[in-house]
Amino acid sequence: VVTVPDLPGATPRLHKPAPSSPTASDPQKEEEENVERICCRCHQLTHQGKVRLGESVDRTDFRQALIKIVKDNPRAAILALVDVMDFHGTILTDLKDIIGDRHPVILCVNKIDVLPREMSSMRLNRWVQRQAANLELWVYDLLLISAAKGANIGKVFEVLRNVCSNEGRDLYVIGTTNVGKSTFINSLLKKGFLKNHRRHETTTSVFPGTTLDLIDFPLPIHPRNRLFDTPGILSDTQLSAKLQFDELKLITPRKRLKPRTYRVSKGQSMIFGAGLGRVDLTDGRPIYFTVFMSSTISIHITKTERVDEVLKKLTGTLLSPPSTFERHQALGWSFRFTKKLRGIGWGESVKDVVFSGFGWIALTGCGNFRIAAWGASNADVRTRPPLM
Ligand code: GDP
Repeated sequence: VVTVPDLPGATPRLHKPAPSSPTASDPQKEEEENVERICCRCHQLTHQGKVRLGESVDRTDFRQALIKIVKDNPRAAILALVDVMDFHGTILTDLKDIIGDRHPVILCVNKIDVLPREMSSMRLNRWVQRQAANLELWVYDLLLISAAKGANIGKVFEVLRNVCSNEGRDLYVIGTTNVGKSTFINSLLKKGFLKNHRRHETTTSVFPGTTLDLIDFPLPIHPRNRLFDTPGILSDTQLSAKLQFDELKLITPRKRLKPRTYRVSKGQSMIFGAGLGRVDLTDGRPIYFTVFMSSTISIHITKTERVDEVLKKLTGTLLSPPSTFERHQALGWSFRFTKKLRGIGWGESVKDVVFSGFGWIALTGCGNFRIAAWGASNADVRTRPPLM
């Protein structure tokens, strides 16, 4: 019998547990001690044929450990997974400072299956390339993938083959939590592009107390070719870390996003869910807000001065998630930024406002206008060049 915590974010047990004490007398304790203890990842690989990365590590600790990895292994290559919906929030923006320019980076932009049908792949490619160029990394290859649907996973393997067998490099897969790293590794395993993992390794960073738990997967290319899975990078500005499981399920898009467009006037606010985020139009002529979020997130437009009253009255009925006003209060929300923008016409958006973890809105209009943005908990809200 194997007991394994199966909760998202659960801390895995030790890979090799310490032997139990022979002096224990409590029967429940004795029963527990007869149980073989292995970590979640080992269990799920062995018994369910899949990896669940419940483990995560703080951003600062991850940075320090990665510095040590690339210092110790001059042949390290990085496979960085990012979420297409929140490119800038899921990439380590200072990756260049951490790894320098002697380590190639394979950039895999995940979850492309949720993008609307109207999204042209040429535009997406160009947009991603432009964002990647700003990172000033040695981008060995850039791939648009869907780990969940298996799209372009074969192409990823071809790139891995080149990097590993031709260049003799070790690969380190990195990504923030929820970017789809477990799904990605499972997809490689399912297609036979990875063999089941050999062992865990812990790398100690140059700073005491900072370690990184790595899982070593052999690639079916050559015994010396290795791919290391690293724990998810946790950021306290990620909304997913603050949400309950059922809320997280509701905000995560499962299907292609269907853009919803609304006309918003000065003095009005658009609320997403029951206070997951909000944008006010504080000045200018009316503009269009096009929302790219899961249809399970409610959208409501009201006068800015009425926002609090509306939330109190409609949370749990017209507005959700979260489903209760108390939960909204527990998460809290606060002002993020105000921005003056100049619309470039009705045919093209001027900016996206991205809400970390659950989508974005595109702003379209003419002339000058000003917006104010709000976010739940301390989750990131940012602007970026329009994706669509
Ligand atoms: P991890 O924390 O990085 O290991 O992320 P997971 O693999 O657990 O995935 C986080 C969430 O994103 C889950 O709800 C997945 O189902 C979802 N997900 C992962 N990859 C994809 C993808 O390619 N497309 C879509 N639509 N969802 C994905």
